[in-house]
Amino acid sequence: MSLPLYFVGPWDLHPDLACVPPSPTAGTVVLIESRAKGSALPYHRKKLVMILSAMHHFAEDLRARGYTVDVVRAETYVDGIQQTIDNRGATEVHALTPREWGLAQALEKATFSVPLHLHEDGGPGGHFLLTKQEALDLLSAQKKTLRMDVFYRAMRKRFGVLMAEGKPEGGKWSYDADNRKPAKGVTPPPTSVVQPTPLTQKMMERVSRWPNHWGQVDGFDWPVTRAQALTVLSEFLDQRLPQFGDYQDAMLNGEVWMWHARLSTALNLSLLHPMELIAAVEARYAEGRAPLNAVEGLIRQILGWREFIRAVYWRQMPGMRSANHLQANRPLPKFFWEPERTKMKCMSEALSAVKTHGYAHHIQRLMILGNFALLAEVDPIEVSHWFWAGFVDAYEWVELPNVHGMALYADPSFTTKPYAASGNYINKMSNHCRGCHYKVKDKTGPTACPFNPLFWNFMVRHRELLTQNPRLSRLYGNWDRKTPEAQQEAIQTAQDFLDSLEPSDHGWSFHDDAC
Ligand code: SF4
Repeated sequence: MSLPLYFVGPWDLHPDLACVPPSPTAGTVVLIESRAKGSALPYHRKKLVMILSAMHHFAEDLRARGYTVDVVRAETYVDGIQQTIDNRGATEVHALTPREWGLAQALEKATFSVPLHLHEDGGPGGHFLLTKQEALDLLSAQKKTLRMDVFYRAMRKRFGVLMAEGKPEGGKWSYDADNRKPAKGVTPPPTSVVQPTPLTQKMMERVSRWPNHWGQVDGFDWPVTRAQALTVLSEFLDQRLPQFGDYQDAMLNGEVWMWHARLSTALNLSLLHPMELIAAVEARYAEGRAPLNAVEGLIRQILGWREFIRAVYWRQMPGMRSANHLQANRPLPKFFWEPERTKMKCMSEALSAVKTHGYAHHIQRLMILGNFALLAEVDPIEVSHWFWAGFVDAYEWVELPNVHGMALYADPSFTTKPYAASGNYINKMSNHCRGCHYKVKDKTGPTACPFNPLFWNFMVRHRELLTQNPRLSRLYGNWDRKTPEAQQEAIQTAQDFLDSLEPSDHGWSFHDDAC
């Protein structure tokens, strides 16, 4: 008997919300391993293991519930869908609207032999809180630069999260100012390891043999099932949430996870629903088990930033990929792929975390890696590809706005200024500088912390543009008070450092739209 086919992408793996037939006998499910997508970038091997293992676990789970499930290897998603239509004699195809522009285009242009029905990925029953159109409408209500805080307040009101009689809980919308403590004299809690299942081990073996990918499979411990995701959630709630806010921006040598949730991958695979996480965190506050600054900080990331970024992505694509407001064009330094090549302790800590785990936390992403790429004026698309390939939780819809918009100011549609900082910020928020080859107090010369001369080099090069921002224009007074000799020395130190950077030469290829 011919039945409909349901294509489940590896971003749609929630057991109750995935796009599957209404009953086990009402259709066939297909999951596809796309060769083109898997080889489009030199993805971190742990990311590939995570996605493949999560897909195969999902398939096993569905089969155990009586569904008919094909897991197909194909050149592209489109090929895999058509192949399965032919094999199963399917009458029509159902799928969620893709989250990434490339696949959305490919499905739109595909000429399948049966009708394709795309379903909303957000709103009630979806994996985001808003439908795509609702999110775009909420952005359109803003007049000038798109602002996350405006979007976030609207979301708080709309979903009634952390609200008390129509007002924000505690009287303020954001407690970000309380969430910038350095982690002095405290130790992050231990992290329990998610044990690889036999199926995960099989994927680890498989992926370890694949050439042209970054990182190793050893030590893989990302959640790939809903049960594992719930375990990580419960550990976060019990062990980390109470201090998550205080030390959200802090960094320590050798500490990868700090007080962070490690749940972004589970959210992006849809093993967890965003409102489930928001509700769990809000409940801890209501029970008096977590402070407001921690709870609001986490909720702002999920209810605010995640939904906002998705809306910005759809609004700015496809132009966002080629956006380069500051005309940055330096190649990505080789040490991004080979962290042992840099003597900068803060960069080495963050880059090694990415190479080992496929992860670094948000301040390492923004204020270390992003800040460096901004000040060194690295071509935004090269930085974007590196983030997309290297981070286990990176998909284009989330990494592109974060890299091009937030970190590099290449697309200034939603940031009012570049997030540029000298070594002082890193020294304040971490203990990296004490063990660094460079001296954070030195502003010029071979021992100067590279962030210091790079900061001024960047500010001077873009003075005409940046001076229009009142918060940045004040900084130029500091520069103007330096003697011409001191200014020249700073620029020369920056230039010498930039000249010493070896460009990346791995020969890997990148295909943004491959799917
Ligand atoms: Fe980073 Fe500069 Fe500190 Fe070294 S001295 S860790 S390069 S901020």
